[in-house]
Amino acid sequence: MTEVKCIGCGAVLQSEDKDKKGYIPASGMDREEAICKRCYRLKHYNEIMDIDMDSGEFLTMLNSLYETDGLIIKVIDAFDFNASLIPSFNRIVGDKKVIAVINKIDLLPKSTNTGRLIHRAKHMLKENGITAVDTIAVSALKNDGLDKLISMMKKHSKKEDVYVVGTTNVGKSTLINQLIKMTSGESDVITTSRFPGTTLDLIDIPMDDDTFIYDTPGVIVPSQMAHFVHAGDLKYITPSKEIKPKTFQLEHGQTLFLSNLARIDFVNGDKSSFTIYSSNKLTIHRTKLSNADEFYGKHYNGLLTPPEISEPVLINDKKEYSFKVTEDSDIEISGYAFISVQAGTEVAVHVPKGVEVNIRPTIF
Ligand code: GDP
Repeated sequence: MTEVKCIGCGAVLQSEDKDKKGYIPASGMDREEAICKRCYRLKHYNEIMDIDMDSGEFLTMLNSLYETDGLIIKVIDAFDFNASLIPSFNRIVGDKKVIAVINKIDLLPKSTNTGRLIHRAKHMLKENGITAVDTIAVSALKNDGLDKLISMMKKHSKKEDVYVVGTTNVGKSTLINQLIKMTSGESDVITTSRFPGTTLDLIDIPMDDDTFIYDTPGVIVPSQMAHFVHAGDLKYITPSKEIKPKTFQLEHGQTLFLSNLARIDFVNGDKSSFTIYSSNKLTIHRTKLSNADEFYGKHYNGLLTPPEISEPVLINDKKEYSFKVTEDSDIEISGYAFISVQAGTEVAVHVPKGVEVNIRPTIF
């Protein structure tokens, strides 16, 4: 069978998997100038649709970006800084300019210090060898800060193309959809010119007469907590509204369960406050450290829900991270929570094996 390619994005058309690139319902396959569902939505509804891509394909695509000129918009999830990093990101950036966009700030408490947040994002990129020419905090969903972002893009792009890059779920599609709305207002935004002969799967969206935005599908980061719960239970662990932080005064020898997927032990130090930033739907329980395993075994699918989990993962298959906290810091459990802890404490965090836990100077 000959391969037929989408005239919009160049992906090979297929009717087997609607989450994968190039999907088209079988009935559309025979049409001349066939167009995949994703491009169809973009063309007719001004909407970008997410698709899956494996990381090998993704890296091939990003590597070919290295050769082109352009401005990179690096999207970072304000609630999941660490998972927002793309491995070998600097290899693909080359000497292109990067604007760092911290998205989803509507999820953080209104009192969050945006200056510190931006400072932290810059630092994170620097640790990965990248200096951003500008950094901005926005909410793509609430259309907050996007006017300023467009001005920044105009200032830095010098008529080059713009590439929106980031891991899955950081909000690239939402951001691009908003930018399309704000800059075009027209329905026929998709163009049909492609990068011939490459596996690039980038969609061109004209920003103005000279500049195009390219949407790059996100790489899937396997370490997020989302992978440990049933798809239907993601709504419990992923915050959808402004986070209401919860503060506990703890003595050492006490522990906090954050639902059934994380445990925070206060191992050593003077009485201290622990503030948890997570989805408001999670349950927090304080108990004695000496009693923690027994408590968990009894209550993991009772008191400590939602979500429900298939096994007591913090007993059967856990990883423990230990921290001696020397300055006020946030411990970040990837995709699940931040815990603000104070200098002088010794803290251990238990999570399902595979979930990343990091510590960084506090942004709160
Ligand atoms: P992509 O995979 O990077 O393209 O991410 P999407 O644009 O598909 O967004 C992933 C999820 O994050 C969706 O549920 C969006 O509604 C949500 N999202 C995107 N931007 C924001 C934002 O600014 N604030 C909030 N609260 N959610 C957002």
